[in-house]
Amino acid sequence: MEHLVHQFEQFDDPYLRERKFDVVQVVERVIKELLGHPGRASVKAAKHTKEDSLIVVAHDLSPADTIGFKEHRFASFITDVGGATSHTAILARSMAIPAVLGLANARALIRDGEQLIVDGLRGVVIVNPDPRVLEEYRLRAEQLALEKTKLQRLKTAKAETIDGVDIQLHANIELPGDVPDALAGGAEGIGLFRTEFLFLNRGDMPDEQEQYEAYKKVVKGMGGRPVTIRTFDLGNDKDLRPETNNSDRVQTNPALGRRAIRLSLAEPKMFQTQLRAILRASKHGPIKLLIPMLAHAHEIDQTLAALAQAKSSLRGEKIAFDEHIPVGGMIEIPAAALAVGLFLRRLDFLSIGTNDLIQYTLAIDRSDEQVANLYDPLHPAVLMLIAHTLASAEKANIPVSVCGEMAGDPDLTRLFLGMGLRIFSMHPSQILKVKNRILKADTSDLAPNVRKLLRLDEPGKLRDALEKLNA
Ligand code: PEP
Ligand code: MG
Repeated sequence: MEHLVHQFEQFDDPYLRERKFDVVQVVERVIKELLGHPGRASVKAAKHTKEDSLIVVAHDLSPADTIGFKEHRFASFITDVGGATSHTAILARSMAIPAVLGLANARALIRDGEQLIVDGLRGVVIVNPDPRVLEEYRLRAEQLALEKTKLQRLKTAKAETIDGVDIQLHANIELPGDVPDALAGGAEGIGLFRTEFLFLNRGDMPDEQEQYEAYKKVVKGMGGRPVTIRTFDLGNDKDLRPETNNSDRVQTNPALGRRAIRLSLAEPKMFQTQLRAILRASKHGPIKLLIPMLAHAHEIDQTLAALAQAKSSLRGEKIAFDEHIPVGGMIEIPAAALAVGLFLRRLDFLSIGTNDLIQYTLAIDRSDEQVANLYDPLHPAVLMLIAHTLASAEKANIPVSVCGEMAGDPDLTRLFLGMGLRIFSMHPSQILKVKNRILKADTSDLAPNVRKLLRLDEPGKLRDALEKLNA
């Protein structure tokens, strides 16, 4: 590895130079295989250190590595590469642990055993803090814990604004094991189950029975509350192991490649297996089917045809399922937001995926720390696309939610309420914080102010208006 990395470092072209990390990842993967931990980062606690005070410092963590952390109790992790809405960061939020990604040189500068403070709120890492700084952070941590305890009082409160508007708060999950967190956070349902995480660390595709069991577990665990199951969003940064990926070439631009529904439609057998498993689980409780990364009308039509085929095969085998399972689409490509009529005419509900919507609107790779400063949820173009989608769905009387990371940011709750959003889906750890904002909001006040805010396209003015809205 060192020999090859050295050769890559001699290249003038920065793109080619960066490819050295591909070599590093391959070698790390080989080492993991040899250690008997295929597809998983090997992490050992240092002597005399409790796992829950350990901080993982890595050059890069793939979503497949990070999902393995759910079995552990690490205090935090930091990486050299990655962005704030990469799936690795999303997993940190779902585990409710602080993380800072994209630090560039953390692994080179930090040595084993050093004491670290990771301030995930500000994106700051402090190495070997002096006692005063450490004390200050201990106090801050206590304060945060206290606020969290206070928020627990809201768990059973109805999410309703001052002017009596009902708001639905749902949870985003990655694994059936996340259901207790969703319930503890007071979620009214699952708004996004990212099913691809179930199967990232394995060599084969899960069969229908295994998927059925996993989906059933979530539905039963939610005890009659609705569960929105998203079909696999594989490709891009979440890949099955190469041997199960039928693609025989490396994609140069995976976020724009055969990802999500594009992959599912290209692999009809895999898609049928998943659709049948989801349909079978629908007999145990209310399930909604959510399709990621739709852009074209024909993709929706093909998906609905595939669903009809799965239903017909189950009927033929006399297997029970919900005949009226609602089908929804993610609005996460600008084309989908702009031509939302195509979606509203064909689907039962919509869910706005702001993480990808921002990535594709601004042409910013959400996992690339080098452009992370340009990833701006408040870019006027992003807000226009969200507002247009919400208004169009309302006019068509089609339910619409937001399930990207923006939905879980309490500083955006009032903005969304003023835009007309009534269904939010987020990490369980954020639900009570957002509910707290909802209980103090009055949509009749917010709506006219937000209409004015949305007419602004100067970033500074827009931010000032948002600050005023939140004051
Ligand atoms: C999104 O893109 O906003 C979304 C919710 O999906 P994911 O983060 O899994 O791409
Ligand atoms: Mg997405």
